[in-house]
Amino acid sequence: MHPVRKNDQLTVRIEDLTHEGAGVAKVEGYPLFIQGALPGEEAEVHVVKTLKSYGFAKLLEIKQASPDRVTAPCPVFDICGGCQIQHLSYEGQLAFKKKVVSDALARLGKLPDVPVLPVKGMENPWRYRNKSQIPFGMQDGEVAAGFYRTRSHVIADTDTCIIQSEEADRIMRGLKHRLLSMGIEPYDEKTHTGQLRHVVVRKGRATGEVMVVLVTRKKNLPQKERISQLIRELVPAVKSIVQNVNNEKTNVIFGKETLTLWGTDAIEDRIGDVRFEISARSFYQVNPDQTEVLYRQALEYAQLKGDETVIDAYCGIGTISLFLAQQAKAVMGVEIVPQAIEDAKRNAQLNGFTNTLFEAGPAEEVIPRWYKEGRKADVLVVDPPRKGCDSHLLNTILEQRPERVVYVSCSPATLARDLRILEDGGYRTKEVQPVDMFPQTAHVEAVAWLQLEE
Ligand code: SAH
Repeated sequence: MHPVRKNDQLTVRIEDLTHEGAGVAKVEGYPLFIQGALPGEEAEVHVVKTLKSYGFAKLLEIKQASPDRVTAPCPVFDICGGCQIQHLSYEGQLAFKKKVVSDALARLGKLPDVPVLPVKGMENPWRYRNKSQIPFGMQDGEVAAGFYRTRSHVIADTDTCIIQSEEADRIMRGLKHRLLSMGIEPYDEKTHTGQLRHVVVRKGRATGEVMVVLVTRKKNLPQKERISQLIRELVPAVKSIVQNVNNEKTNVIFGKETLTLWGTDAIEDRIGDVRFEISARSFYQVNPDQTEVLYRQALEYAQLKGDETVIDAYCGIGTISLFLAQQAKAVMGVEIVPQAIEDAKRNAQLNGFTNTLFEAGPAEEVIPRWYKEGRKADVLVVDPPRKGCDSHLLNTILEQRPERVVYVSCSPATLARDLRILEDGGYRTKEVQPVDMFPQTAHVEAVAWLQLEE
């Protein structure tokens, strides 16, 4: 039997914060997860669900607040699924993220002695997102737009999202309030009716160029001209207005067909001195300021003198590759999405790089083949998705033994797992630098520097 039951009301002390940003209290050893509560706080909670080895409770009242608690500035913070830790001071957020990395390395990687540096954060941790994907829908007879509620597909309707750009706010608000009068209905997931599904706004940080993508259910969109004109009135910096058609009953935002309604097909941005062309569907890091910090760190750990060959595994559109190409003899990038590799090649050309090579395919197949063909790397950079590196790729690293490995990770748990494997195979993790790519959220990004022990 659990020490608590559903609907119990009790006062607890919060001991910890999960890597998802929920407070953890223990009642006779039984963990209760409480969204919105912070370590050190005493709070009155209501148990909403009990499972075998843990339960969930709702925060009713904070009896003793943490000194790190701040008032979340967002009006829909309590219901929106976008941010998890606005109620924690920014300093507190950075300390939390460092701890998430250290704990993962110590517990999951059995690497308690690896130095984890203080998290590199932002001077102004707001309005940092360069891309917003805003769902539109109807709520109580009115158009709603914002982001989805936590673990749901109900829109947390809002007029402002303070981690997105001012431009995205203006377009979100303007379209929301004018949509019906233009004769356009937002999409209804349940009945698969209505027109406008999502509005995606992208902005080049360095260039200020803005792209707006209207994701519609059908190609035939009434009032195309008027919407396009309204968007340009709302944000004169708009350079590209694009329609994407998605007629599927799906959670996937984009459909197959994309057509330009007004202006250019793509916008441009720069990270450091490297230029990137971004089209409606291109993958591109969402926080360009911190991306530059992250890549500079990766470059520093790569310690390039100019005569090295570098492999960039999981290279996306080649953002890290092109950064490295400024200082290496040659860079080879591999990525599983063919479209991203097309973008990478185009971006290499755009910047005049002649020392890069990109190939589409699974890193764990392409890289062993490269080695077989005699293409060896002095430094290997990996930036895998949350599930971490494929075990075949880790085996290849251990067989081929490049002198240095730079591991960029968006999941401390899989980072710790993979570092353990590389350590067991002869590498030493010299240092880990977390970088705050997603302030106000619980996401943690880190770069690790590994060196082959002689
Ligand atoms: N380095 C890039 C992208 C990192 S995101 C940047 O900083 O922008 C991780 C990338 O890994 C995604 O683009 C994803 O498509 C790709 N990916 C996932 N599985 C892969 C695999 N098995 N082999 C190669 N790439 C893969």
